[in-house]
Amino acid sequence: MDRCIRTRFAPSPTGYMHIGNLRTALYEYLIAKSQGGKFILRIEDTDQGRLVEGATDVIYKTLEMTGLKHDEGPDIGGEYGPYVQSERMGMYMDYAKQLVEKGEAYYCFCTKERLESLKESNAEGAAFAKYDRHCLGLSAEEVQAKLDAGEPFVIRQKMPDSGTTAFHDVVYGDITVENAELDDQILMKADGFPTYNFANVVDDHLMNITHVVRGSEYLSSTPKYNLLYQAFGWEAPVYVHLPAVMRDAHHKLSKRHGDKSFEDLVNEGYLVEAIVNYIALLGWSPADNTEIFSLKELEETFDIAGLSKSPSIFDIKKLTWMNGEYMKAMDFEKFFTLAEPKLAAALEGTDVDLRKIAALLQKRLETWNDIPAMVGFFKELPEYGTELYTHKKMKTNDEIALASLEAAVPVLEGLADWNETAIHDALIALAGKMEIKNGQLLWPVRTALSGEPTSPGGAIELADILGKEETLRRMQKGIAMLKG
Ligand code: GLU
Repeated sequence: MDRCIRTRFAPSPTGYMHIGNLRTALYEYLIAKSQGGKFILRIEDTDQGRLVEGATDVIYKTLEMTGLKHDEGPDIGGEYGPYVQSERMGMYMDYAKQLVEKGEAYYCFCTKERLESLKESNAEGAAFAKYDRHCLGLSAEEVQAKLDAGEPFVIRQKMPDSGTTAFHDVVYGDITVENAELDDQILMKADGFPTYNFANVVDDHLMNITHVVRGSEYLSSTPKYNLLYQAFGWEAPVYVHLPAVMRDAHHKLSKRHGDKSFEDLVNEGYLVEAIVNYIALLGWSPADNTEIFSLKELEETFDIAGLSKSPSIFDIKKLTWMNGEYMKAMDFEKFFTLAEPKLAAALEGTDVDLRKIAALLQKRLETWNDIPAMVGFFKELPEYGTELYTHKKMKTNDEIALASLEAAVPVLEGLADWNETAIHDALIALAGKMEIKNGQLLWPVRTALSGEPTSPGGAIELADILGKEETLRRMQKGIAMLKG
């Protein structure tokens, strides 16, 4: 019988959302949602040394902002709780003991010193030493005597002596390892707590997880996990390991090396929807070449078969392009609501019409943080050099620019109404009268009004927004500069 698909996002609270982790969460969500399944949040907080204040809030907030709504989790409960690993600590010992009874695990009383000496005597050096199974030879009576005496112990998984362990991964295919290479890993530590390697298997089983989706760094541990499922007689999940998200051909994205987290990208002016859309494509592609997907569309389109095993490179330029597409496609009122505070901050102290500026920006903006640099000239004409008046395509140079500005000033001065239509009609008529191309008049005016090589909007829009007085003042300044 087909089980309802259940995936889980099992982040360790580090205080930020790594792009690779968010992608894992997204794929877990999509694998579940594309098949009517459930997406579960489990917080893996047992590495107390790494705990960061407020770190779980970052996880909740990111899931909420991105729309990756979980069906069960610490904050909303569910049938399979608790969903915080540290609150589950009491339940693992019984499972470990079950394995001991089945002969699939054993008590180990070896001291630290003995284990250290094993490492030292290891031909390969201290870096790796398989446990020598010293305690596997203890009789049941010997074990009991040590337990009764209160000797500290760990419980180790007993790996098969020979043969191979094989499992299938959806992304990486069939994987087979020699059992002889597997260490009798510790399941329960001397402090009575489980190792991560044990806890995650027990948790995934108890939470009825059908698809374990995680980073490929866990691929090498999966044979051991798979043997644990076998040892318990549990059905193993479908494994989906995801290749790393890379900064370049050789390096993984890493926060420590300055790569941006999800929050960093949001703070840098990227839209959450665009980030989600972009990271969906970091390791997955649809059957056709569509690139723009809302989360809802991803839920409908996502197919596990589109996952790739080649690592993908996080390309900020591509994200920036995609963000610009989202900006353009946004309903203007929404765009304005989001842009207004940033415009108001950048243009504080001026009374220019922010709506008009927003309308010009929407076609060109790539990220919110580009706003100040793009609109600063509305507040104050920047210092600029007359070389800006020379533009090959517009067929302008200093001489033409000076003639155009000198002719345009009285025409604009004479306008009774100041609006785009009036300004447009006056300037186009003037270009005709001067027998020059429109660009030869409009480019110099645009340049005089902005002092920038490019601006969100041309001469007519800028003049309208700046108002008559400021427009004429800036044009006079241009004339003075061009006269040298
Ligand atoms: N807590 C682990 C991590 O953040 C999750 C590993 C898993 O998904 O099994 O890397």
